[in-house]
Amino acid sequence: MHVSFEFFPSKTAEMEQSLWEAIARLAPLAPNFVSVTYGAGGSTRERTHATVRRIVNDTDLKPAAHLTCVGASREDVDAVVRDYHAAGVRHIVALRGDPPDGIGAAYAPHPGGYRGTADLVRGIRSIADFEVSVSAYPEKHPESPSVDADIDMLKAKVDAGATRAITQFFFENDLYFRYLDRVRARGIDIPIVPGILPVQNFKAATTFARRAGASVPAWLAKRFDGLDDDPATRKLIAATVAAEQVLDLVKRGVDDFHFYTMNRADLVYAICHLLGLRAPAAAKAKAA
Ligand code: FAD
Repeated sequence: MHVSFEFFPSKTAEMEQSLWEAIARLAPLAPNFVSVTYGAGGSTRERTHATVRRIVNDTDLKPAAHLTCVGASREDVDAVVRDYHAAGVRHIVALRGDPPDGIGAAYAPHPGGYRGTADLVRGIRSIADFEVSVSAYPEKHPESPSVDADIDMLKAKVDAGATRAITQFFFENDLYFRYLDRVRARGIDIPIVPGILPVQNFKAATTFARRAGASVPAWLAKRFDGLDDDPATRKLIAATVAAEQVLDLVKRGVDDFHFYTMNRADLVYAICHLLGLRAPAAAKAKAA
């Protein structure tokens, strides 16, 4: 069983503490890698870099740095890639990024920048021998005219050198398997790792899903109905929902998961325990 964990760089000292608590709690599970997001339009460039550097220096984890090309010249993006390489990073999650006016606004490449993700992947691979992961959208990207157009884009990213795709989160596993069939039929054979979002906060997850073009099934809303003021029960329901989803994926042959942790460890740790992952006793004592 393989897992990876996604974190976002923290804004405040308090958030920094919970980020590192989450990393310390999840690290003993020996993830395949941990990734750190890059804020919209490169807004967290320094913080992403600092977080990734600390992961390299202070832990045994393998970091993957997210990187977008929106609103940046090729020179700027290449400088970030070289900085990562110099810091010991060997894995980049390459993304286009959202237009500055948000999802739905027209995307225009920077005049001196990479044209899109495939171009970015090619650029990264030409700088050094990085492992490059990219996004995949089982329900298609909101800007995409069709799932087929989306899969064409994935194919272009793979042809440019991407070695793994991580999916946008989804709540209906059939969506993932239908998508996987179409991806394989297109001749794409890299791992398509399901991105799992444990629903720590249903309202926030709904907003997040609307922006990302992911559907929220009525049965899921029903499960959280009436629990707005009951965080303890909400947490138990969230654990049940995520456990059902992940165990069903395992039953259907999946053995690699990417968790959107939202910088919180508890739910993800519990789901990994269900998946059979165990922290060695010595590591557990160190994390405590
Ligand atoms: P691509 O794969 O390049 O494109 C997605 C689809 O959009 C394509 O299939 C295509 O049909 C359509 N499309 C793309 N370009 C055009 C165009 N010019 N005209 C018409 N249609 C087009 N964002 C961040 O800012 N920072 C992050 O750290 C980050 N991490 C992410 C991690 C994962 C696993 C995922 C799934 C998404 C992440 N995103 C992140 C969000 C991502 O940047 C946005 O979804 C962005 O809008 C698309 O970037 P992409 O590389 O996923 O798109």
